[in-house]
Amino acid sequence: MSLLSAEDVTLSFGSTPALRGADLEVGEGDVLAIMGPSGSGKSTLLHCLAGILVPDSGVVSFAGRRLDAMGENERSALRRDQFGFVFQFGQLVPELTAEENVALPLLLGGVRRAAAVREAREWFPRLGLDGLGGRRSGELSGGQAQRVALARGLVAKPRVLFADEPTGSLDSLTGEQVMELLVTSARAEGTTVVVVTHEPRVAAYADSEVVVRDGRVHSLAAST
Ligand code: ADP
Ligand code: ADP
Repeated sequence: MSLLSAEDVTLSFGSTPALRGADLEVGEGDVLAIMGPSGSGKSTLLHCLAGILVPDSGVVSFAGRRLDAMGENERSALRRDQFGFVFQFGQLVPELTAEENVALPLLLGGVRRAAAVREAREWFPRLGLDGLGGRRSGELSGGQAQRVALARGLVAKPRVLFADEPTGSLDSLTGEQVMELLVTSARAEGTTVVVVTHEPRVAAYADSEVVVRDGRVHSLAAST
């Protein structure tokens, strides 16, 4: 049985249809890459799966619960407690140090400050960020900043990590290193991963790939 699924999901922004009957299933522990051209609906699909957007019609389920039927408060609690996020740009709070950024999801979940920072610090050696916990985002390279963002996405031990173009602002070698760390760390934690990317070399780190075209999901084999 799948942990996360979308069934015949539609969503339009005004008169622009973004999803037109999207179906997707993600198994527990899977690493799934969502590929597809710009504007095809990848981000919108990820936002529906993550309970950020509510579809106009269709069903989104997580662990047997209907996200599409939940109110904003319930979805927001679910996101905080079960999901982690990594995005492409501008995600670190510039006023905070790297380790304070990583500690944020724990603080939001009610963990006390000292314990949250202690847990956050454990991620730095794991991600090759030794000695960088006290830096602010302006003092980090793009690849370092994305690894800090990855630590922040995983620190609260989410069931699902959602990553939207996590390597999109990096050169290809750095991007592949970040993706490899993302997949390795998520597997070590047993975290399910849904990653949107338009880069085949990044998608290659996933267990499976789907392609979104014109708001519908195609399996890779059937996508041509
Ligand atoms: P992708 O992630 O594949 O690039 P998106 O899901 O971002 O595609 O967008 C799908 C379609 O919906 C595009 O036509 C895009 O312009 C439109 N769209 C996405 N978000 C919005 C929004 N907030 N307001 C209006 N149109 C949007
Ligand atoms: P991505 O690279 O993830 O597809 P986009 O550049 O398409 O990102 O979109 C970035 C953000 O802008 C998303 O949150 C998306 O919902 C929003 N967006 C995309 N297209 C439009 C649009 N035509 N009008 C308004 N917002 C949009």
